[in-house]
Amino acid sequence: MTEFPYKPRKNQLRMLEDLKKSIVERRHFVAEAPTGFGKTVVVLSALKSVGAEKIIYLTRTLSQQRTVIKESRVLGLKAIAVQGRVHYCPIARKSEELRKGDSEELSKLCTTLKKNNDCEYSTEFRGEIFNAYPEEFYDELTSEGVCPYMAMKSMLSSANIAVAPYTFYLNPFIRRKFMEWLSHPKPIIVVDEAHNFPEVARDSLTVEISHRSVLSAEKEAVELGDPMLCEEYHASDFLEIIAEMLDEFSEERALQPYEFESMATQRLKVSLEKYRDMLRRGIEIGEELRSEKARKRKLPRSFLYRVSVNLLYMSEERENTIKIASGGRNPKITMYPLDISPLTVDLRATVSIHISGTLYPLDYYRDVISLPESTFMKIYPSPFPRENLLVLYAEDVTSKYEFRNEETYRRMAEYIEKIISLGKNVAIFFPSYKFMGEVLKYVDDEIIVEGSEDSNILLSRFIRYGGVIAGVLGGRFSEGIDLPGKLLEIVIIAGLPYPQPTVYRKALMNYFDNILGKGWEYVFEVPAIRKTVQAIGRLIRSEKDKGVAVILDKRAFRLGNYYKNFKRCSNPQKIIEEVRRFFNDFS
Ligand code: SF4
Repeated sequence: MTEFPYKPRKNQLRMLEDLKKSIVERRHFVAEAPTGFGKTVVVLSALKSVGAEKIIYLTRTLSQQRTVIKESRVLGLKAIAVQGRVHYCPIARKSEELRKGDSEELSKLCTTLKKNNDCEYSTEFRGEIFNAYPEEFYDELTSEGVCPYMAMKSMLSSANIAVAPYTFYLNPFIRRKFMEWLSHPKPIIVVDEAHNFPEVARDSLTVEISHRSVLSAEKEAVELGDPMLCEEYHASDFLEIIAEMLDEFSEERALQPYEFESMATQRLKVSLEKYRDMLRRGIEIGEELRSEKARKRKLPRSFLYRVSVNLLYMSEERENTIKIASGGRNPKITMYPLDISPLTVDLRATVSIHISGTLYPLDYYRDVISLPESTFMKIYPSPFPRENLLVLYAEDVTSKYEFRNEETYRRMAEYIEKIISLGKNVAIFFPSYKFMGEVLKYVDDEIIVEGSEDSNILLSRFIRYGGVIAGVLGGRFSEGIDLPGKLLEIVIIAGLPYPQPTVYRKALMNYFDNILGKGWEYVFEVPAIRKTVQAIGRLIRSEKDKGVAVILDKRAFRLGNYYKNFKRCSNPQKIIEEVRRFFNDFS
């Protein structure tokens, strides 16, 4: 009999048994279960009941991390909230400058301070603090003069669960160390809110060189006395040529694999090997500057170092990547990955569990991160009554790029004003900030707009006074807010968030077409549907919640399979009638 700490909700035990079977059979597990299902406690109960020794639980936000810690307490597991130095290094936290550092820069600072015996948080920690929220962990240790980051590292080998941000797994440099601290050959890996995972993985492999960053490197080189990168070139001359080349890019276009490097070597009149040697010298000079800054407790940042590292990285052969040049006010080259499977090699070598409120279609997720065909995949239905949600869509309007004009903005505003006039608490989500600005110009009502002030302040104002809140799909309000009961009764999706057809997305589409035959679906349709379903998911957070979603986009017919109560409407009046009828039926 499986141990489960609460009275189970509908379908929770089914998922628990499926998970246990998967883990025992060493099959990867990919599942969608709606928000409010109670996925975290199910996963942890299954892992506990099969006796999993070591688990890496990857989360994206602090609140997800807290949920895992909370359920670990209930289940009597030993969990640690893993955080980077930006959260757990007291020296970095106390300095405005150091707080801006990335993980690599703070690691450099830490190594330098420790080497010089210059860290005041050197008290050795021999105890154990499991199941503490990150803030509790930090406060308790720093009050004893102990470094929370070092204490966390030392405790990982005896913990059952390391609850870590995605980056601890996706950054190869951090992952290698993280695995050493865990000292376990094959921990089970859980990816929470997994719909974000491929995108975050892609971002972590993306490298960029911008005109602005090259100018900063040039300025830094001059301040350093303009050192030589080889017999012929001072650093500033070299960087000026690179800046000129970037400046010549106007339209966004894909570059041939070595196009930029051959342009650079021709202008510099050097071989590719010599070009790379110059970059290696740039790295050395930048590294000396970084060490000096770290010794003085300054942020160990060098633009020359960064630019040289990125140019060198781009100049080496990288499979399944694409370099894209773009113009504008800050011309740049960006190297994007097409394939993220190299990042998930270790994950495939163990058992992994991937859960989310919106992971449909599951085979897309499995394919993108290259899990095997044998992966167990399942969608668990909502434990809440399906008739509590009504989804309507308007068939005479769309946010399609070619229809983004005054007529569309006015028509959407008309729908929005009519819906607001019903006097319910409403959230409106748009495909982008720009589109939101255009439509809201024509709406007279008072609206709390995401981005206008600190999100927490805006949210507490909405919770206190109600009214209308607006944000973007994929943003904080559409994915991270919990507004049960009458706090939120209507969600308006003002246009489906199909991504822009950039050069990169088109390249990605061709790549998926070639390997899976589903390019358009994977690159454009799935992200738009997922963001929409996530936003609509804000409405039903408990058994008693009832809500209406109104999608102002005729392309929404594609969501028909997703919802039980799904209707098309031809004008604002029809929508108002449907909404009124729905709420009257429940009153
Ligand atoms: S050892 Fe010192 S410098 Fe390193 S993370 Fe801890 S407090 Fe920061």
